[in-house]
Amino acid sequence: MTQLKMDIQYLPGVGPRRAMMLKNELEISTVDELIHFYPFRYVDRSTVQRIAEVSPDLAFVQIMAEVKRVTLYGPDSNVLNTLQGPVRFNTVKRMSVIVSDESGEMEMVFFKGIKWNYEKLKPGSIFIFFGKPQSFNGRINIVHPEVDAVSGQGSQIPGGTLTGVYSSTEKMKNAGISGKVMNKIQASALNALLPNLEESLPDYVIRDKGLPSLNFALKNIHFPQDTAALARATYRLKFEELFFLQLSLLKQKYIRSREERGIPMNKVGEAFNNCYKSLPFSLTDAQKRVIKEIRSDLMSGHQMNRLLQGDVGSGKTMVAVLTCLIAYGNGYQSCIMAPTEVLAQQHFANVRKYLEGTGVECALLTGSSGAKDRRNIHEGLESGRIGIIVGTHALIEDNVVFHKLGLAVIDEQHRFGVDQRAKLWAKGPSIAPHVLVMTATPIPRTLAMTLYGDLDVSVIDELPPGRKPVQTMLIGQNRRHALHKFMKDEIAKGRQVFVVYPLIFESEKLDLKNLEQGYEDIVAAFPFPEYKVAIVHGQQSNEEKNFNMKAFAAGRANILVSTTVIEVGVDVPNASVMVIESAQRFGLSQLHQLRGRVGRGSEKSYCILVKDEKVSKESQKRLDLMCRTENGFELAEEDMKMRGPGDLEGTQQSGLPIALNIASLAKDGRILAEARDYAQYVLDNDPALSLPQNARLKDELRKDKYKVKDYSKIS
Ligand code: ADP
Ligand code: MG
Repeated sequence: MTQLKMDIQYLPGVGPRRAMMLKNELEISTVDELIHFYPFRYVDRSTVQRIAEVSPDLAFVQIMAEVKRVTLYGPDSNVLNTLQGPVRFNTVKRMSVIVSDESGEMEMVFFKGIKWNYEKLKPGSIFIFFGKPQSFNGRINIVHPEVDAVSGQGSQIPGGTLTGVYSSTEKMKNAGISGKVMNKIQASALNALLPNLEESLPDYVIRDKGLPSLNFALKNIHFPQDTAALARATYRLKFEELFFLQLSLLKQKYIRSREERGIPMNKVGEAFNNCYKSLPFSLTDAQKRVIKEIRSDLMSGHQMNRLLQGDVGSGKTMVAVLTCLIAYGNGYQSCIMAPTEVLAQQHFANVRKYLEGTGVECALLTGSSGAKDRRNIHEGLESGRIGIIVGTHALIEDNVVFHKLGLAVIDEQHRFGVDQRAKLWAKGPSIAPHVLVMTATPIPRTLAMTLYGDLDVSVIDELPPGRKPVQTMLIGQNRRHALHKFMKDEIAKGRQVFVVYPLIFESEKLDLKNLEQGYEDIVAAFPFPEYKVAIVHGQQSNEEKNFNMKAFAAGRANILVSTTVIEVGVDVPNASVMVIESAQRFGLSQLHQLRGRVGRGSEKSYCILVKDEKVSKESQKRLDLMCRTENGFELAEEDMKMRGPGDLEGTQQSGLPIALNIASLAKDGRILAEARDYAQYVLDNDPALSLPQNARLKDELRKDKYKVKDYSKIS
């Protein structure tokens, strides 16, 4: 164990100077940290190419060649010295080394480390050069190749022909910590560590899962014997990482469900049944499944903490209302919290519609509720007359007192903070109310399982029948004229149009300018009084925003120009066209959210993605995918693969509970699922991990990195 904590400067081949560099650049200071710094890729150095075969299409090449000529260049490419003799290296800007084998000649270029390489690369001597070939002025060269002696002097490095490549920085390279040096340092670390290395997983886990030992895994992740050994090592390390992560999350969930009492709600009640019976449609199978899941939470005697995911229009609100009615049937009040006033109003209108004939009183409380209403609502909540309250933050800030709050439904989780929830709890009885968080941001299941590892996740993965698909098209700038004509045709049919601009610039002022320019263009193409154009953006006051949104929602404007403020929420069934400007600047999930704003009415709807002239390959792929599928989960999976989970819409705030070292949530979904199942199995047998065979697990979870914040209190 002491070896693990040993400062790396005492490892052979490191020393204080390199140790300092590794600490500053990579935050590695102990042997333990070093050994868990894995190669990010491997190169097969068993093959040597001929110079004639080298092409810039190859990722890496290795050639064995003789040094022919060395030329030093100063400023403005003046040749400084090609002869022997004293060279003033501080004036050298570039060194060109021409090398040859029997098939031809090529150039190696150095901008750094010149003195060192100049002294080594004597004409007439033979070396192995390794690097990425590139084409420059029609010729092929390699910049900063790795240079090895031909006789196997580096052979104290163990392993086969695969060599690990580690992330590095410019500063490290300048300080002489080349790829080869890094390999040697890792070899020293392994030598120091492996003889006394303790296995980190219990023996039965290794057996059950058919994993190689930690010793094998570490040796082969750094110095693979062959590709099969590397694959086993990688699997073991990824599994272990994800297994501990899931174990820690699930363990917290166990603790919480044991400690956190919940209000038992055993009945369904008449109000639920009346509402259910009078629905003009039947629930989708997905809605029914989710309601069952919620029912079983409510009856469990533990607090429900459930995340409900579903695409826009999948019928989450319906499910929320039915859940409120169960609470009502058990004698409890519910609140539904929305992030904006417009959304709260919309929820209220919907909820009221669903509640017709149930006899349940419902009210709306927002920042703009008048004093008289407010008093009335306070009284109704305190006496218990009001069964369901819909509202914004006002519900929290206000001195509202509930008679018996039993359920909080929170829409769009990321807009509500920890403090706010705590305040809400304080308004209820002594037992915390059940919580249902709804989000229309589809998060891939693998990610949800990890981000909300201690929340239960329900997914509505099915849209109500009869929904018309939104036709999505991608156009370039040259089609703007046709676009305006199309918009006019739709407006002539009585429809409305959204036009959305991205936030482009760092500064809000510049973004606003971009939006205003777009607004002026639209107004010029759609002149008043024939057309009415409303504008909404982040710099407006809430009143101004509400006023303009309402004007559009009520049909008083034909076009709404906005930044992404319309992303969350508003239902305007009459809007049939969504135009997204500079569409390549949006993430897939964001585009999907925006597209979800149309296609809510009975009319055929369109989403038109307008791209800028120059669009990267990546972006083009994203936009093509948008045109191809309307499935939010498919898009979210793709988005995560392309951008990594950190960038995923709606997950920035939560972040990952633990930084992953080798596993990737985007790519290792299968291993994650396996790790989670197995963690569940382990905890089912030993929830406190107190059995002797689980001692290693318990030890690992004591580490600081698993001291995860309580996610159930954050969402
Ligand atoms: P979400 O909150 O997920 O965006 P809503 O609950 O607002 O979705 O539902 C969108 C629309 O679909 C509403 O008009 C709602 O009345 C309707 N709806 C919900 N469930 C169904 C269903 N099972 N069949 C038909 N229409 C439904
Ligand atoms: Mg909704």
